[in-house]
Amino acid sequence: MPFSSLGLSKPLVKAVAAQSYTKPYPIQQEAIPAILQGRDILGIAQTGSGKTASFVLPILELFQRKPAARNRFVKALVLVPTRELAVQVADVFQVFSAKLPRPVKTLAVYGGVSINPQMMGLRDVEIVVATPGRLLDLMSANALQLSDVDILVLDEADKMLDLGFEEEMERIFDRLPRNRQTILFSATLGDAIQDINASLLRNPVKIEV
Ligand code: AMP
Repeated sequence: MPFSSLGLSKPLVKAVAAQSYTKPYPIQQEAIPAILQGRDILGIAQTGSGKTASFVLPILELFQRKPAARNRFVKALVLVPTRELAVQVADVFQVFSAKLPRPVKTLAVYGGVSINPQMMGLRDVEIVVATPGRLLDLMSANALQLSDVDILVLDEADKMLDLGFEEEMERIFDRLPRNRQTILFSATLGDAIQDINASLLRNPVKIEV
């Protein structure tokens, strides 16, 4: 099954080929068409499964389908547990977005470094990849708002909970529009993840790889 059969348009298929991805991984075969249809996703997947591209590619495709809004508020939010993952995921967005007809500006924001460059860097950014604490700090500083977010991704959600981010996550969820698409990836499916699933996801497509 080639990438082109998953509903991605030519520029995205070209971007994938440029990364020498010849064939979609199983998680990509399931997640990409479902995300393009607007479905919520509950994905149980480990690092190495190809989960990052399974949400990055359809999100970029959805951006291609709608013209850039006049305001460049954040439209997609990816929450991750660590700085390393934030940088890694933002890199994947940037690599696949670079040559698209409608490039989408992505920024990684995370704690442990000075907040000012991140505040400046947020101009025209439509996809933010964030650790929860720093995202809340940026919101408190009025550096970014979540009122236009229509796609939320929780990546490595179980690790976010293990690191004690539950309260921060709840505060962020409270600030998001209700009408949105939610994509949750976790390596495990414990009670806390089931709770998030029940409260945040709407009739999700369940994917286990
Ligand atoms: P991830 O699980 O998202 O961390 O991805 C693991 C690795 O697989 C990364 O180095 C990706 O660049 C690579 N990868 C993801 N999807 C594909 C694919 N369809 N073909 C080849 N490599 C891939």
